[in-house]
Amino acid sequence: EAAAAPKATRTTCPYCGVGCGVLATPHVEGSVGIAGDDAHPANFGRLCSKGSALAETLKPDRRLLHPSLHGARVSWDAALDLVATRFGAAVREHGPDSVALYVSGQMLTEDYYVANKWMKGFLGTANIDTNSRLCMASSVAGHKRSFGSDTVPGTYEDLEEADLLVLVGANLAWCHPVLWQRVAAAKALRPGMRIVVVDPRETATVAGADLHLPVRADGDVPLFLGVLAHLEAAGALDHAYAAQHLNGLDAALDAARPYGDLAHLAKATGVEAERLVDFLALFAATDKVVTVYSQGVNQSSVGTDKVSAILNCHLATGRIGRPGAGPFSVTGQPNAMGGREVGGLANQLAAHLDLADPAHRALVQGFWNAPTMAATPGLKAVDLFEALGDGRIRALWIIGTNPVDSLPDADRVRAALKACPFVVVSDIVADTDTMPFAHLALPACGWGEKDGTVTNSERRISRQRAFLPAPGEARPDWWALKEVARRMGFAGFDYGSAAAIFREHAALSAHENEGRRDFDIGGLADLGDLAYEQLAPVRWPIRRDGTGTERFFADGGFFTPDGRAQLVPVTDRSTPVTTPEHPFLLNTGRIRDQWHTMTRTGRSPRLSAHLAEPFCEIHPDDAAAHGITEADLVEIASEHGAAILRALVTPRVARGSLFAPMHWTEQFASKARVNALVPPRVDPVSGQPASKAAAVSLKRL
Ligand code: SF4
Repeated sequence: EAAAAPKATRTTCPYCGVGCGVLATPHVEGSVGIAGDDAHPANFGRLCSKGSALAETLKPDRRLLHPSLHGARVSWDAALDLVATRFGAAVREHGPDSVALYVSGQMLTEDYYVANKWMKGFLGTANIDTNSRLCMASSVAGHKRSFGSDTVPGTYEDLEEADLLVLVGANLAWCHPVLWQRVAAAKALRPGMRIVVVDPRETATVAGADLHLPVRADGDVPLFLGVLAHLEAAGALDHAYAAQHLNGLDAALDAARPYGDLAHLAKATGVEAERLVDFLALFAATDKVVTVYSQGVNQSSVGTDKVSAILNCHLATGRIGRPGAGPFSVTGQPNAMGGREVGGLANQLAAHLDLADPAHRALVQGFWNAPTMAATPGLKAVDLFEALGDGRIRALWIIGTNPVDSLPDADRVRAALKACPFVVVSDIVADTDTMPFAHLALPACGWGEKDGTVTNSERRISRQRAFLPAPGEARPDWWALKEVARRMGFAGFDYGSAAAIFREHAALSAHENEGRRDFDIGGLADLGDLAYEQLAPVRWPIRRDGTGTERFFADGGFFTPDGRAQLVPVTDRSTPVTTPEHPFLLNTGRIRDQWHTMTRTGRSPRLSAHLAEPFCEIHPDDAAAHGITEADLVEIASEHGAAILRALVTPRVARGSLFAPMHWTEQFASKARVNALVPPRVDPVSGQPASKAAAVSLKRL
């Protein structure tokens, strides 16, 4: 009798915010077949190089298999008791704000939910922040300032339906490849569609664009001030929409008008006047415009203002929430959005509620029956590690992230971890650069071994499903968190599965909606018991019948007290950071085939073949001036640290600028930790670090 064909499990890719559906088929001999899911509406069967190579990252070697204390194996019971004891003692002796969690956009929504509930409702501190702070905190802040909520108004279809697609600080071709494939296919069908890329670098995305605006670093604020001024001058504002749905248009226009002068705009942005004229005319004349933005906007000391400058242009023209029209933030991580939905940042509560709002706090406290609600926002990522360094944080639990490589001023992060009396690290990998700083290491389940939900950049919630057994004693993060909470004597943590947590999250979201609209910013109706198992990829808000919501705000309905959006009159606050000692501006970013600090993708020979070693892009004129030729080793250094990289001489970067990927860690190349150079400078509103503008020196070795 023929053996039954192996069954495919429907799951979601764990890498970027596109959130592609994956069919994973484990075979008896141990290999796993990976294919794109034709039925998933994010990718319709497509996968990029990283998604296609997922099976190569599932090898059991280098996995953390057992809890260990100072390197010696201990039982889960002993480990969890110790976490409960040490966190409890720190709270008792030094107050609730002496403990912290630093978590990850790789965590599933259910992990995030339990982590937030434990910290904010039961330990009484909001000191839980996430590496999503490095990814899209400026978008969150910009959304909230204008919309009253952290809501992405549109869908991926809008990118395909737009007549003008403006990509700002977003190298979609490498960082969101499947979304880029969808855009490229749409343009092939409709060649009249125009694509404009706003980026200081000539990225791979520029090759598919009609126009490239090589703005100076942080030149996006004046650029979109110029767009707004031009929209007014060209008569392209939607006064009817403004009268019904907007506040603050006059002040925003006042702030923008100086940039209506072309010579001034060219100087402020660093872009030649001819290209600006083409762009401004195109923007004013095209009704269906989508402006997509990503890390080049968010990772800036003026990131929130950049977001506001973009949102202002869409609001003032009423080009929002309609097919093919709207601003669109693409997130870096697979679940940056899901984390936001359950309060994943230090200034948020579950169900998109606001920690600073006493009514919101009371509602969540009542629902959780929580004894000690946090009353003030907690420390954001950079501040959190500063507090660790100066002794304010006495116990820290890091989950699913590698901060000694990924945070700015990464050497100071190392020193801060050394200074902390009790550090717990949960991870799937035994030898990350952060692991040596763990007093207690906890083995976590990885992709393919755990269940839960993630939310992609277009608000679409999808399931991640287990199709492999957990190796060794690895456990889901939500399980470890709820076990510690239970050991501390807290009620309300008796979850037996991710499904139970999802149901509570949905019930809280619906609870928040009582007496308000049928579905509200909480995002989920009360979906009932079966919803989790049957959950097909769907965009929140989800109604009781399981159907989702396409777009927001075409007819107003903003989540502000008066229902109107707020335009923010931003000005160009960027300041030069280079000095005679550090005359180059370092831009950090990603490459196509690696993910974050390479703990998984670095294990795939196929992915590592794309760009095999750490490098630094240098303009040919700068290379010549420093006696540097292609493939030389160079040292770049800032006030904070230094890195040794291979020179890649190319006009893709502007004179005076350098680009280096941030992936390589000590594990893979001993002196190439690029985040050691990045200063801990943050956007004052969002707390997001300015990872794309470090002042550095350059020399040939
Ligand atoms: Fe995964 Fe993103 Fe590639 Fe899709 S585009 S397969 S989500 S890495």
